[in-house]
Amino acid sequence: MTVQTPSIDTLVVGAGQAGVAMSEHLSKQGVPHLVLERSRIAERWRTGRWDSLVANGPAWHDRFPGLTFASVDPDGFASKEQVADYFVDYARKIEAPIRTGVEVLSVVRNVGRPGFTVQTSDGTYDALRVVVATGPFQRPVIPAIAPTDTPLTQVHSADYRNPEQLPPGNVLVVGAGSSGVQIADELQRAGRQVYLSVGPHDRPPRGYRGRDFCWWLGVLGEWDAEVMRPGKEHVTIAVSGARGGHTVDFRRLAHQGVILTGLTQSFEGGVARFQPDLVENIARGDENYLSLLDAADAYAARNGLELPEEPEARIIPADPACLTEPLSELDLTKANVTTILWATGYALDFRWLQVDAFDANGKPKHQRGVSKEPGVYFLGLPWLSRRGSSFIWGVWHDARHVAEHIATQRKYLAYYDTPTN
Ligand SMILES: Cc1cc2nc3c(=O)[nH]c(=O)nc-3n(C[C@H](O)[C@H](O)[C@H](O)COP(=O)(O)OP(=O)(O)OC[C@H]3O[C@@H](n4cnc5c(N)ncnc54)[C@H](O)[C@@H]3O)c2cc1C
Repeated sequence: MTVQTPSIDTLVVGAGQAGVAMSEHLSKQGVPHLVLERSRIAERWRTGRWDSLVANGPAWHDRFPGLTFASVDPDGFASKEQVADYFVDYARKIEAPIRTGVEVLSVVRNVGRPGFTVQTSDGTYDALRVVVATGPFQRPVIPAIAPTDTPLTQVHSADYRNPEQLPPGNVLVVGAGSSGVQIADELQRAGRQVYLSVGPHDRPPRGYRGRDFCWWLGVLGEWDAEVMRPGKEHVTIAVSGARGGHTVDFRRLAHQGVILTGLTQSFEGGVARFQPDLVENIARGDENYLSLLDAADAYAARNGLELPEEPEARIIPADPACLTEPLSELDLTKANVTTILWATGYALDFRWLQVDAFDANGKPKHQRGVSKEPGVYFLGLPWLSRRGSSFIWGVWHDARHVAEHIATQRKYLAYYDTPTN
C-alpha cells in the first residue's frame, strides 16, 4: 500500500520574529518548509503597537545573532518600524520561503494518513508538520470589571497609537507593566492628568554600573530561568527604552504629575474603586529593583570586574502624596476622566488549531515547544522553555531546538523511508 505524503514537510504559521527564526533553523537543518503569514512580515511590530514605541532592549541585545541593526547604535533602542524592517531584511537575507497575505483558518489531523489538512484564505494545504508561531500576545484582554454602561472611551493598549487619538480630558491607565507605564508617561507629558493603576511588578534598573539590565539579566542567568518563580505569575515587568532608555521609577512618575493608585477593583455609578495595595506593590517593586543591584554588585565582586560604583542608584525618591495617602476611589466625572486605557495584557487564541494539543484550560501542552500532539510545535510563547522565550533573542534559540527535533524525526523516518509523524 502507498501512503499519500503531504506535499509540504513543515508549515510554519506566522512570520513575526518567531516564524523568521524558525525558517532560518529549518533551512540550516535542510527541512523543506513554507511560512504562511496572514498579513506582512513582523506585522505586529508595525501596526499592533503605539507610534512612539521603541524596543525595550538595546539594539546589541534585541536582535538575532546573524544580523546587526544597520541604522541603530548598538546601545540605542530601535523604533518599532526599525524592528519590523530588521525582520524583513533578515527574512530576505536567509531567503525565507514566506507567503504573506495568507491566513490559516484551520488545522486538522488527517485520518488514516500522516500530517494535517490546513485550510487557508488561499486554499487547502497538506503538511506533515505544523509549527505555530502566531505570537505570545494575540488577543487583547480587557478584564470583566470594565464598565459597560458608560460614555467613557475605553481603549486597549494594543489599539492605542498616540495622545491625539484620545478625546480631550484625563485618562485612567489600568496596568503598569512596560506598556501601561510608558503610555501613562507619554500621556502625562502630552498634558493629560493621568491616573495609573499599579499592580505587582518587577522594575529592573535600565542600567547599573555602566551595563544595561539586559546584560545583567544575561550574565546572572535570569533570561535562562526555566520556570517562573512561584507567586510571580501575575507580576508584570516595567522597563522602558523610551527617550534613550531610563529606569522606570513610579515615585518619579508621581512627582512628574501622574497619580498612582492600587489595582483597579470595580466601577460602579461612575466611580472607580482601587485595592489598598499600592504601598505594598511599590515596596515589592523597590525590593526587586534593589535585589538586582545587590546581585550585580556580588557578580562584579566575584569576578573582579572594575565597573564604576553607582551608589546614587540606591537612592529612592521621597514618597509622593498619592503614596502616603492613596486614593481608594475616583469619581471619574468629577476628575474629568474621559478615557480608560486598558494595559491589561493579552491572551492566546488557538481556535483555528483543531488538534489534541491543549490541556483542560486550553493551554498548549508541550515540552520546549514540542507538542503532545505529534507533528505540532509551538514557538514564541511566554516561558516556552525559559524567561527569554517570547523575546527577540530568546525565540531564536527555541527555534533551533524545535528545528533539531524536526530534523531528528525526519532522520528516523528516512531510515525506513516511512512517511509518517
Ligand atoms: C508593546 C510590546 C513591546 C514589546 N517590546 C519588546 C522588545 O523590546 N524586545 C523584545 O524582545 N520583545 C518585545 N516584545 C515581546 C515580543 O518580542 C513581541 O510580542 C513579538 O511581536 C513576538 O513575536 P512573535 O513572532 O512570537 O509573534 P508576533 O509578532 O505576534 O507574530 C505572529 C505573526 O503571526 C501572524 N498570524 C497570527 N495568526 C495567524 C494565522 N492564523 N494565519 C497566518 N498568520 C497568522 C500574525 O499576523 C503575526 O505577524 C514586546 C511586546 C509588546 C506587546
